Amino acid sequence: IDELLKQADLAMYKSKASGRNTVHFFDPDMEAAVTGRVALETDLREAVHGEQFMLHYQAQVIGENRLSGAEVLLRWQHPRRGWVSPAEFIPVAEETGLILPLGHWVLKTACAQLAAWAARPETAHLTIAVNVSAHQFMQNDFVDQVLAVLERTGANPHKLKLELTESILVGNVQTIIEKMLALKARGVGFSLDDFGTGYSSLSYLRRLPLEQLKIDQSFVRDVLSDPNDAAIARTIVALARNLGLGVIAEGVETEAQRDFLAGSGCHAYQGYLFSRPLPREAFEALALRCLDENSSLAG
Ligand code: C2E
Ligand code: MG
Ligand code: MG
Repeated sequence: IDELLKQADLAMYKSKASGRNTVHFFDPDMEAAVTGRVALETDLREAVHGEQFMLHYQAQVIGENRLSGAEVLLRWQHPRRGWVSPAEFIPVAEETGLILPLGHWVLKTACAQLAAWAARPETAHLTIAVNVSAHQFMQNDFVDQVLAVLERTGANPHKLKLELTESILVGNVQTIIEKMLALKARGVGFSLDDFGTGYSSLSYLRRLPLEQLKIDQSFVRDVLSDPNDAAIARTIVALARNLGLGVIAEGVETEAQRDFLAGSGCHAYQGYLFSRPLPREAFEALALRCLDENSSLAG
């Protein structure tokens, strides 16, 4: 009887999730989804305490091939399931609050890396972009946390870029602006990730002390085949220029996409055309190669 009631309950939740006042039959997939979700949550809790995470570094490039820095992307090496995509576990981490310790680890690790790179002439110019989720940014002491990490690691704040999404805008905009200004005063920059996919409210955009807009990869993907996406990409570049902001395109996979973007006035790129997200050692090797190529071009 318990099992039966549990299954009826799952069907009811499905009805509620589909807007209520509707009927759903139980189906074993519902149970599998819930069980999978609970297992992921349990494993994620363990992972945050163990050492199952690592950062990958994806090149950010200016012009033809000048490497300006990297975006750090979180990777979870699950003991049984192998590699789990952040697209799968970040939402769970957000719902459970685990994103707070996890996000802090990412920031700490990225800043320690910045400090290590600063000590070597071949990597000293590189910047690091860190994704910050809305929950993380909403914490009352977020600014103090970032400043403490910068202090402790000795990282140069001017080399740190925080990637925010429009989901932060559910909070009090004045508070958001104050937090951003406090960090900006120390040299930290802000980029607006996945731009164009959220509300893209122009009045907010004007008020936020941003440094850069990041054109979402969904527009870049079909920029050559879909005239609407091409128009959106061009409009975002013009918007950034008119607001005095920088602009970078993500998900650039082909020369043709890069050429289109360059022709529209966007000269900073990230995507498989330049490099996949790489483990630290491989990224550093790439940085060295870029340096060699550029110095031989100059010579
Ligand atoms: P995002 O910040 O928009 O990151 C870009 C995603 O696009 C990354 O997926 C990257 O691997 C992928 N990508 C890069 N170049 C290309 C390309 O040329 N083609 C295609 N098809 N994809 C490309 P990834 O690593 O799976 O991350 C997914 C999302 O997870 C990120 O989207 C970000 O929202 C979130 N995430 C990753 N790491 C962190 C983190 O440390 N903290 C937080 N809060 N979120 C993170
Ligand atoms: Mg990002
Ligand atoms: Mg993005």
